[in-house]
Amino acid sequence: MKKVIKLGNLKVGGKNPVVIKGMIKSSLDKRSAVIKEAKVLQDEGAQAIRVAVKNPRDAGIIRYLKKHTKVPFVADIHFQHKLALLAIDEGFDGIRLNPLNITKAEHIREVAKAAKAAKIPIRVGINSGGFKRRFSNIEAQAKAMVDKTVQFIRVLEKSGFSDIMVSLKAASVSATVLANRLFSKRLDYPLHLGVTASGPFLEGLVKSSIGIGILLDEGIGSIIRVSLTAPSFWEIRAAKWMLSSLGLRHDYPEIISCPTCSRCQVDLVKIVDGFYKETQRLKAKGYRFPKRIAIMGCEVNGPGEASQADIGVAFGKGKGVVFKKDKIVGTISSKSSIKDLMDKLGVSNGYKRN
Ligand code: SF4
Repeated sequence: MKKVIKLGNLKVGGKNPVVIKGMIKSSLDKRSAVIKEAKVLQDEGAQAIRVAVKNPRDAGIIRYLKKHTKVPFVADIHFQHKLALLAIDEGFDGIRLNPLNITKAEHIREVAKAAKAAKIPIRVGINSGGFKRRFSNIEAQAKAMVDKTVQFIRVLEKSGFSDIMVSLKAASVSATVLANRLFSKRLDYPLHLGVTASGPFLEGLVKSSIGIGILLDEGIGSIIRVSLTAPSFWEIRAAKWMLSSLGLRHDYPEIISCPTCSRCQVDLVKIVDGFYKETQRLKAKGYRFPKRIAIMGCEVNGPGEASQADIGVAFGKGKGVVFKKDKIVGTISSKSSIKDLMDKLGVSNGYKRN
């Protein structure tokens, strides 16, 4: 059983739901852009947000963020432990320290003392890129990441500090998975998962999904942060779909749609895209949906897949057959609007506000 840590109003670890974390990418010198980005991330579903604090001036941003948003903010600190002390003073809800560049025991103890007084957690966050040496193989790299992290944690523990979260990230999916597996066998602190520097949008999405997905499926991980070279809201959307795909969240419907093939006689890509956007729009207004909605391109696999969903439609020539569980409940013209399709599927009629 993993230890439970409080991060602002969130409980992280144990049997608590996996938390989605985002990151501010705007320059902290542009205060209105930062606040706007934080609001977007919060609206998208980020439950906590990391802010890179690189100089004393940056730490003050928390006062403005707190005025406009409700989520906890974690100050990401490298090299200078005094920045961590400042961020704690300014009111950050958590601190991330990098054990590869904050290494003096007296500095670590100082931050632990201040974090304890402020009742906020510290994330010990190691990234493979921070090692000065090269590793001959993934096992050696993962072991070095774990050893260095445990060494840092021991200093915190000896100073009486135990509100600890941990992240072990590598650009390699295999090294990330292995490091987290090894760590979870050694210590009981909640793990924040992510594959770092994962690459361009699609590549990063695939790498993050595999790395985070494998670990979550093994029951490892209490908080996730998807890392993409893309606007920050995509990271939150991707994280939500990862959790939905693993059945760890049900606040958005899982849309089961086929890849289409030459049997398909409707523009299924357009239909599914329109349907998806409409669910997002309505979700933002506080609507709920059935867990699984199938939208299939033909009668071959369509009815079978649709029958495993709560509701679904399988399109044929000129019309679609509408299913509820395994019962046909009607038909709809292929030319119908998205709104008509949603009405016919009973989604819009059955909407319930939260
Ligand atoms: Fe093709 Fe039909 Fe399968 Fe879709 S459900 S991929 S249209 S066979």
